[in-house]
Amino acid sequence: MKGFAMLGIGKTGWIEKERPACGPLDAIVRPIAVAPCTSDVHTVWEGALGERTDMILGHEACGVVDEVGALVRDFKPGDRVIVSAITPDWGDINAQRGYPMHSTGMLAGWKFSNFKDGVFGEYFHVNEADANLALLPDGMDPGVGVMVCDMMPTGFHAAELADIQFGDDVAVIGIGPVGLMATAGCALRGAARIICVGTRPKCREVAAAYGATEFVSYREGDIADQILQLTSGRGVDKVCIAGGTVDTFEQAVRMLKPGGIIGAVNYLGSGDFIKIPRLAWGCGMSHKSIRCGLMPGGRLRSEKLAAMITAGRIDPGLMLTHKYIGFEHMEEALLIMRSKSPDLIKPVVYID
Ligand code: NDP
Ligand code: ZN
Repeated sequence: MKGFAMLGIGKTGWIEKERPACGPLDAIVRPIAVAPCTSDVHTVWEGALGERTDMILGHEACGVVDEVGALVRDFKPGDRVIVSAITPDWGDINAQRGYPMHSTGMLAGWKFSNFKDGVFGEYFHVNEADANLALLPDGMDPGVGVMVCDMMPTGFHAAELADIQFGDDVAVIGIGPVGLMATAGCALRGAARIICVGTRPKCREVAAAYGATEFVSYREGDIADQILQLTSGRGVDKVCIAGGTVDTFEQAVRMLKPGGIIGAVNYLGSGDFIKIPRLAWGCGMSHKSIRCGLMPGGRLRSEKLAAMITAGRIDPGLMLTHKYIGFEHMEEALLIMRSKSPDLIKPVVYID
């Protein structure tokens, strides 16, 4: 079969590989809609995970089940499914501790395009199919379903990590697709003001539709100063981080009220250390906390998030700015994710 792969750091291309084999608990899936992620960009062009050779990219896909193992109970060939980007080993001790994304090791629940071939192949392998697949609801556009794989669960995880409560004033740093889903997640959890940081006009337009109340540009001065000014020096109760760099944490700590919480899901592609400003950290006594995480993954979460779309609570389809038809457009879709044109939020590739 063919797949679109990372050939090495900074290099991508089409390769031929064996069709993956199906274990007794597993499934083999043929993709029908896939999306590139900013994480693919960090992995390939920043070498953020280290060297990977001839590894098929991608971790966001809806597909049709092609084969299941003998012990799979709830899925069968022909089922249309949403495949979570994070596919934990649910029996692992870290999963039992409540951290499925770190099952078998730090970040090791993230297998596609990290520890094994991803979803940009003609077929891909899913471990523990009963626990990691979800049925694509009848009538749901698979391109919209793809937003359930990673963008919705990750953005919502930022809102969960920040423990958004009714009436909280929130800053969302970064309003690419992840930050947009964080914005929507904060609004759904009852935030009051949602001050969003980001400049792309299309992202701002959709952020407003998801509940952003104000905007700040990191190109127009320090964002902590701007947010402190907007809040008459009080700062915000919570911060979601879905963009920026290692230096963003210094700003997030400064814009936070005492006792505030930072929920961070940004994948830091470079830089060795995060600096915490001593004074804004209350000389170590501020009760401010930083909670960061890879999204949890798995079937239950996918089913619940898909149910929110079906119930009309949220429309992640607003983020699909670039639609391609045909597997051959994979490279184009990934490159536009890298270059981030002003009208881009999220590309999706439909495959016949
Ligand atoms: P985008 O690149 O589309 O969005 C990044 C956002 O950050 C944009 O709004 C951008 O503004 C803004 N930004 C850029 N530089 C700065 C800065 N210096 N200060 C403040 N804001 C800045 O990314 P995605 O939404 O696709 O992904 C966000 C992050 O989430 C990525 O790092 C991705 O790898 C990660 N991720 C994490 C996962 C997890 O499980 N934890 C899963 C999936 C993704 P502008 O409008 O100007 O472009
Ligand atoms: Zn991703």
